Amino acid sequence: MQEDTKVGFKDECGVVGVYGHTHAAELARRMLFALQHRGQEGAGIYTSDGEALHGKKGMGLIDTVFQGPKSLNKLRGNSAIGHVRYSTAGGNELCNVQPFCTGELALAHNGNVPDTEEIERTIAEQGVHRESTSDSEIILHLISIAPGKTIVDRIIWSLSQVRGSYSLTILSKDSIIAVRDPFGFRPLVMGKVGEKTIVFASETCALDIVGATFIREVEPGEIIIVGQSSVESYRLPTSEEEAQCLFERVYFSRPDSEYDGEPLQQTRERMGQILAQECPADADIVIAVPDSGIPAARGFAKALNIPYEVGFIRNHYIGRTFIEPLQEDRYNGVILKLNPIRNTLREKRVVVVDDSIVRGTTSKIIVAMLFASGAKEVHLRISCPPTKFPCFYGVDTPNRNKLIAANKTVEQIREFIGCTSLAYLSLAGLKNAAGNKTSFCSACYDGQYPIKVKHLLQIQAAI
Ligand code: AMP
Repeated sequence: MQEDTKVGFKDECGVVGVYGHTHAAELARRMLFALQHRGQEGAGIYTSDGEALHGKKGMGLIDTVFQGPKSLNKLRGNSAIGHVRYSTAGGNELCNVQPFCTGELALAHNGNVPDTEEIERTIAEQGVHRESTSDSEIILHLISIAPGKTIVDRIIWSLSQVRGSYSLTILSKDSIIAVRDPFGFRPLVMGKVGEKTIVFASETCALDIVGATFIREVEPGEIIIVGQSSVESYRLPTSEEEAQCLFERVYFSRPDSEYDGEPLQQTRERMGQILAQECPADADIVIAVPDSGIPAARGFAKALNIPYEVGFIRNHYIGRTFIEPLQEDRYNGVILKLNPIRNTLREKRVVVVDDSIVRGTTSKIIVAMLFASGAKEVHLRISCPPTKFPCFYGVDTPNRNKLIAANKTVEQIREFIGCTSLAYLSLAGLKNAAGNKTSFCSACYDGQYPIKVKHLLQIQAAI
């Protein structure tokens, strides 16, 4: 979802849906808990008891918004949808917390619709009042005013006008609906609890937490509607070449979540192995930047037969450093979060593996910490290509002028960070590690945006 089209995009989110369970709200709460890494700023659940929709949302983590089972008392009914939201400064307000609800329908959105001008005009002409600055609310209003006999007709009419990334769960009084955009930018999976309960979630780790079995992915361009006696699948009329987000595989999704039947832990180890083949280093130990660098570091170490060691201990009680809006806070964030283990590092030639470099802040501090702990050499290896372009499809990235790789060569980045050597995984290597099974969105690495809209190009030119 999008807050401010001029400065970049601020949200990565997680969505869930539950149909046919006496404790639908509790299931949704647990599933959202498993998706907490996708959003820590706000959360919400809506349920339906067949007659009315009931909702609760708030700012903060799941266990802040929903403190214990009693917090769900008002969320009656056998079906539910839910949302966790990630944002940075500016858009971090209660009015933007999801799901959004019109009374008739509630909607939870993971993704981003960068060009909403025309749709905004359409809904304004119908006199619709908006409560938030969110593109997700616009989608909901568009569906609410859409012509059509059935909810599926109305969704098809609406989404045919929406160009962007969206994995949606939608709640009506008597059904839940899951939709994925024709490119399949963001993930969305379907599972089953027992014989009667159908669940949807952004990632498979949310199925595991409620003992659901994985049925399948919601396909790009697919609408699945679950009602009392049926599960039906429809297609959006536009078909596009699939463009699943590569960064979900690199960093964003949890390592225990599965894509194409494989946990990302394994996929990321392969990224490390290929990185080692492409850019080896002569070193005594390989360490990871925890937690996101661990699988690739293990893969790197295995491929070169260098011992994998724990070089940092991470404090888990501080949120992702990326959340901090000010550069200075980010410095403090890294120092608070990671503590080096000096005995392991002293007098060693160290390879340190991280998943990505965005502004370069984290890496610069980490390298300084390693040298201060006695490392003789620090070879930084990154398990994705240089991030040169902002994401318009739902991953939080700063403007281009803050992306270090958009403005510096690899050698200049190395100099800035202060490491002995620096190398990134190639795009071909990353795709290879990710299985080459689907076509991917690699826009943040190569600027090849799958959706070319006028507005998007204007934004790019402006940043
Ligand atoms: P930076 O200090 O700006 O270079 O940030 C790099 C660190 O942020 C890496 O350690 C990544 O694990 C993490 N990171 C990269 N992209 C994102 C993102 N979109 N949201 C949150 N964290 C990220």
